[in-house]
Amino acid sequence: MSDTATTPTNATFDQFGLHADILKAIAEQGYTTPTPIQAEAIPVVLGGRDVMGAAQTGTGKTAGFSLPIIQRLLPLASTSASPARHPVRALILTPTRELADQVAANVQAYAKHTSLRSAVVFGGVDMNPQSAELRRGVEILIATPGRLLDHVQQKTANLGQVQILVLDEADRMLDMGFLPDLQRILNLLPAERQTLLFSATFSPEIKKLAATYLRNPQTIEVARSNSTATNVTQIVYEVAEGDKTGAVVKLIRDRGLKQVIVFCNSKIGASRLARQLERDGVVATAIHGDRTQSERMQALDAFKRGEIEALVATDVAARGLDIAELPAVINFDLPFNAEDYVHRIGRTGRAGASGDALSLFSPNERKQLADIEKLIKRPLDVQRLTVDTPVRHHHDERGARRERDDRGGSRRRTTGAHERPHGTHHRQQPVDDFFLKPYEPSPSAVSAAAKRDEAPSAPQKPASKQPLAALLGGFGMPRKTTTSN
Ligand code: AMP
Repeated sequence: MSDTATTPTNATFDQFGLHADILKAIAEQGYTTPTPIQAEAIPVVLGGRDVMGAAQTGTGKTAGFSLPIIQRLLPLASTSASPARHPVRALILTPTRELADQVAANVQAYAKHTSLRSAVVFGGVDMNPQSAELRRGVEILIATPGRLLDHVQQKTANLGQVQILVLDEADRMLDMGFLPDLQRILNLLPAERQTLLFSATFSPEIKKLAATYLRNPQTIEVARSNSTATNVTQIVYEVAEGDKTGAVVKLIRDRGLKQVIVFCNSKIGASRLARQLERDGVVATAIHGDRTQSERMQALDAFKRGEIEALVATDVAARGLDIAELPAVINFDLPFNAEDYVHRIGRTGRAGASGDALSLFSPNERKQLADIEKLIKRPLDVQRLTVDTPVRHHHDERGARRERDDRGGSRRRTTGAHERPHGTHHRQQPVDDFFLKPYEPSPSAVSAAAKRDEAPSAPQKPASKQPLAALLGGFGMPRKTTTSN
C-alpha cells in the first residue's frame, strides 16, 4: 500500500463476503478499510452488474474491480496443470504498458492465495515469454489492446470464455486511437458477460461506447477525496520559451525538489529536456513510447527509489503511475488538452499530502492556459519567473567528455544506473546513450507507438470537455500576478 488517495469509509472488507484467501491478501497489503470506490464497486461487481465508474488512479479502483472479480472466479479456480482448465475468464484492458503492469502486480498480490492464474501482455517486449505463459493457461489477463490482438492472431490468446471485461482508463484508450482495436476485441468476446468501464471523464464518446457495450450499468462516481483544490498548490510561471529549461533547473534547485515529474507535450521534447537537465546537473531521465519497455521500467523503478530527481514524461507514459508522496510536478509545456492538466497535477498531493503543481507558461501558450482555466473553472495564479543566470556552463564540458568516453566505448552506463564513479562529488548523471544521440524515430516506432501504447507528439484531437472541475473545486479567485525572481 503506498498511497491511497481516499478517505476511509465506515465499511470493512469483511462485510462483502469475500473469501478468506482474498481477505488474507488484503490484510497483507496493509489495507484496513475499503476506499469509497471499493465500498461502492465491490458489492455491485459481486452482484454481476455492469459498471460505469468515474474514478482515477489513486482512488483504489484497481482493487475495487479486481477483488470482486477474483471472488467471482474462485468457484472456477483449478489446481489442475491442464491449460484447458485455465481459460481466460476475466480480461482487463488498459491504455498503457505501465498501467497494465501496475494492475497486474495488484491482481497477482490479491490472488496470491488462490489457484487463479494471472498474466500481463503489452507491446514493446518479446512476445515469446508471454505466449508461453498464455499457453499454460491464465484466468485473469491484463493487456494493452494492440498486443492482445497480436496474441489473438497468433492464437496464443483465446477470448471465447471471457465472462468479465474491464476497460480501465477508457477515456485514454479512446484518446490514443484504440477504438478500432477495442471494437475488434469486443467482437471476440461472448455477448453474455459482465463489463466494467472506468474512465476519468464521461465524454460523449465514452457514453457512446458504454451505450453500445454495457448493459444497464450502475454508475459509480467517486471524486478523489483529497481533491486537488485543497492540497495541491498550483502556480503558473510566466517565462520566455527559451528560458524554460533554466526555469525547471531553478525551480528544482530553489525548492529543493528531490523527486519531480516534468511533463512535456512531445517525445522529442521530453528527450531533449532530460538531456539538457542532465547537463545542468539534475539527475534526469525521460520516459515515453519510443523507449523500450525495459528502459521505461528501469527509469520508473529508479525514480521510485529516489535515484532520479526529474522524470521527464509525456502524458501517456506517465498516465496512471502510482508514485507515493510525489512532492511536485512541473509542466514544462502546458498540455494541448486541458484535461491532461488535471491528470498531470493529480500525480502530486496524493494520500492527503500537500503537493505543488508548477507550470511554465510562455506567451504562445495563452490558449492552453485559457482552456485549463475554463475547465477547472478558476483563474490560476500567474507569477513571473526570472531566469537570470545562463544555466549551461561547466556542465557542457562534462557532457562533451561523456560523449568522448562513450565514443571510445570504454564506459557505458545505462538509464537508472546508480553506479557512481569513485571520487565524484556532484550527483552523477545516469547517462543513457539514448540521450546522447540525435532523435531518430524509427518509422515502425512512430506508427506503432502512436497507434498503440503512446500518444502522438503532435497536438491531439481534443478529447471531451466533460468537466473535471469537480475534482478541482472552483473558487472564483481573482488572478494575481506577482513577481518571483
Ligand atoms: P489505484 O487507484 O488502484 O491505483 O490504487 C492507488 C493506491 O492505493 C495503490 O497503491 C493501492 O495499493 C492503494 N490502495 C488500494 N486500496 C487500498 C485500501 N483499501 N487501503 C489502503 N490502500 C489502498
